[in-house]
Amino acid sequence: MLGARREIMDRLQEALQGVKSRIDEAARAAHRPAREIVLVAVSKTFPADAIRAVHALGQRDFGENYAQEAIDKMDALADLDLAWHFIGPLQSNKTKLIAERFDWVHSIDRLKIAERLAAQRPAGRAPLQVCVQVNTSGEASKSGCAPGDAPALAHAIARLPNLRLRGLMTVPEPTEDRALQRARFLALAALRERLQGEGLALDTLSMGMSADLEEAIAAGATMVRIGTAIFGARPAKEMQA
Ligand SMILES: *Cc1c(COP(=O)(O)O)cnc(C)c1O
Repeated sequence: MLGARREIMDRLQEALQGVKSRIDEAARAAHRPAREIVLVAVSKTFPADAIRAVHALGQRDFGENYAQEAIDKMDALADLDLAWHFIGPLQSNKTKLIAERFDWVHSIDRLKIAERLAAQRPAGRAPLQVCVQVNTSGEASKSGCAPGDAPALAHAIARLPNLRLRGLMTVPEPTEDRALQRARFLALAALRERLQGEGLALDTLSMGMSADLEEAIAAGATMVRIGTAIFGARPAKEMQA
C-alpha cells in the first residue's frame, strides 16, 4: 500500500514538474516572465486524494467542470487552503452552488448566468473572479459566446455587483495544426486588447490546455488549465471535453 502510494506521488511530482518546465520554456521563448502565468490543475474525474497529493507538491489552484463533483471534493479537502476554478458548462440550476463555493468562474457565456452568480454570491465573501468564455472556433465548437457578442457581455458583467471581471477564456477546437491553435489564441488576445481600450481592466487570458499550452503562452496566456499532463488520461467519456 505504502509503496503504491509513494509511486503515485512520484508520478504526480514528475508530471507537475514536467508541466512547469513546459510553462517556463514557453515563457522564455515568448520573452515573458513565467511568474505571470498561473497554472490551474484541472482535477475533474480525479479523486480528492489526487488533489491532496498535488497540493502537497505546492499547487494551489484547481479547476473543476462539474459542480456537485467539485463540492464533494471541496468538503473532503476543507482543511487545505485551495483556490477553486469552475471551468465547465454553466447550468442555471447549478449557479447557487458555484457562487457559494468557487473562487473563480471561467466559463460565463451569457448575461443571465452572470446575473444569477452575482445575486447568489454570499455577502461575506470576496467578489467571484470571472472570465467571459469566447468561442474562437466558430462552427467547430459550441461553447462560449460569439466573439461579436463578447464586448456587450463583458461590459454588462463589469457593472454587476459581487463579481470581478478578470478577462477572457477560450477552448479552441482540438487540432494538431500549431498555426491554427496560435490564431485562435491570438484572436482572444486581440479581443482582450480591444476591451482594455474600451476601459475594462482585464488582466487575464485563460487559455491553453495539455496539448496546446505552448501556443497559448506564445499568444499571451496568463492562466493555463492543465489536466491530462498532470493527472493522466481521463475515462473515455471525458476525452472530448
Ligand atoms: C478538461 C478541461 C481542461 C484540461 O484539459 P487537458 O487537455 O486534460 O489538459 C481545460 N479546460 C477545460 C475547459 C476543460 O474542460
